[in-house]
Amino acid sequence: MNEYDSELVRSILTKAGYAFVREEAQADVVMLNTCAVRENAHRKVYGRIHEIRHQHKREGGRPLVIGVLGCMATNLRKALLEDPHLKIDFIAGPDSYKKLPMLIAQAAEEGKKAFDVTLSEFETYADVYPVREKGVNAWIAVMRGCNNFCTFCVVPYTRGRERSRSPENVVVEAERLAAEGFRQITLLGQNVNSYRYEGRDFTDLVEMVSRVEGVERIRFTSPHPKDFPDRLLELMAADPKVCQQIHLPLQAGSNRVLELMDRTYTHEAFLDLVARIRAYCPEVALSTDVIVGFPTETDEDFEDTVRVMREVEFDSAFIFKYSERKNTIAARRFPDDVPEEVKTERIVRLNTLQKEISLRKNQAHVGQRMRILVEEADTDTMKGRTDGNKMVIVPRIPSINPGDLCDVTITAASPFGLKGIK
Ligand code: SF4
Repeated sequence: MNEYDSELVRSILTKAGYAFVREEAQADVVMLNTCAVRENAHRKVYGRIHEIRHQHKREGGRPLVIGVLGCMATNLRKALLEDPHLKIDFIAGPDSYKKLPMLIAQAAEEGKKAFDVTLSEFETYADVYPVREKGVNAWIAVMRGCNNFCTFCVVPYTRGRERSRSPENVVVEAERLAAEGFRQITLLGQNVNSYRYEGRDFTDLVEMVSRVEGVERIRFTSPHPKDFPDRLLELMAADPKVCQQIHLPLQAGSNRVLELMDRTYTHEAFLDLVARIRAYCPEVALSTDVIVGFPTETDEDFEDTVRVMREVEFDSAFIFKYSERKNTIAARRFPDDVPEEVKTERIVRLNTLQKEISLRKNQAHVGQRMRILVEEADTDTMKGRTDGNKMVIVPRIPSINPGDLCDVTITAASPFGLKGIK
């Protein structure tokens, strides 16, 4: 979503007369588009701002105006603006990008600390066509915000309530992208399958995008397990353009922890959903997000997560240690009481387990013919992804270029990807 938002910002500022430069030393304005989901992201942003200032000074760059955009901007506006070491000049939240020309002008010309972090109930940027790098995949944000308030999550506070773009507007963007040579569309939303617009739901939208000529593959991320109608699964099973891949965030396997997280499902319901998905789409690749060490998580709770991970056998998983985010329900209600070394033990165990599972699942592809969409190619190799989003590295065939579909035989597997030959 942040990559997509940066493309929106590029479009808004290009229209306002700004040119983008590759080297920071040549820039008058530098913006960091930030995420507030994990603490690591915070540390990175602080480090990056110091680095930019030092480097700029060293290289004798022009006076610099620095802005922070995105979720961290909303969540930590005061702290960021008042930090005497960071010296941030302007701040814009995810719904304020159209005000950037004004904010930059206030900061650069009037020397004011400028900010706008107002959340909108309506802003979807449907009227802004992002400036993208050329490539094979294009993101389209079809909805923004989230109404779920999972207790650990900052998104509803930093990105506001759910609102969707009209399906017609999304289709126009997809048509334009196909005409520009993009072959894959990834539909984006914080909670993408709760997409709703005047009686049309997410399945209707996917169906409409699938009719766009030139679009070869459609992916979407991230869905919430609570919003998975059979109609969507029927469409996935029947429509070869809709990829056999679902990112399905589990977060925890213990029903007690799931309730504290307010995820609104039990592990039994999650396992039922996985069975339903696999009944419709037996070849589907599943990935997930898991948090270890949520407040009060006991060894028993953690063993429930291990059991669900073993039972589902996800193709891949993003596993994180719980880290408290300011202003969330969990931060207000539950002390972050699982010791760091216990979190580390748990994450190491789950990562080891997942690596074994991913390797086994990838090895099962060895010898199979699989279709990849080529994303990159140099003189020696090309890289592409399977329908299930697994990366395959193949020796280069000169007549095949990025954007082409190509059938390959899988010859080797690791936990992280595949190798093949044409
Ligand atoms: S559904 Fe996702 S974005 Fe929404 S509150 Fe929960 S974790 Fe955050």
